Amino acid sequence: MSLEHKKIQKDLLDVYYGEKSMTEEIRRHLNTCSECTEYWNELELIKKNMTLFDTDIEIDERIIGRAFRKSSIIMERRKNIKDLLVFAVISSLILSVLGLIIYMGYGKRIIMAQIIIMVCVPLLVPFMIRQRLMEEEQ
Ligand SMILES: [Zn+2]
Repeated sequence: MSLEHKKIQKDLLDVYYGEKSMTEEIRRHLNTCSECTEYWNELELIKKNMTLFDTDIEIDERIIGRAFRKSSIIMERRKNIKDLLVFAVISSLILSVLGLIIYMGYGKRIIMAQIIIMVCVPLLVPFMIRQRLMEEEQ
């Protein structure tokens, strides 16, 4: 390999890495020298393959990301359904206990208890919000 080829191929490497722009001198040499043209084509081929490789990875990441999002949505939905079921079971239990107590003749006390609860529950709201925020942080 002559010094001229060596210099041109070094320049081509710089062009490949974007550290230098393709000069007229290099272009003229490429037109006349098959050895350096081949070297340049190899660089271009590597570049093309790297680009393909990059795209592949990007697509994979998108698919993986979508799968993760989908599974977290399903998990969230399952949790919501579970919460709803628990709520339904607990509230129907409470309602049937209340109905039983009223049926047994304690209606007046139930109303008193309800009034007390209605006064006390708003006091609990800040604590419930705090609990909720702590759950979300986890
Ligand atoms: Zn050459």
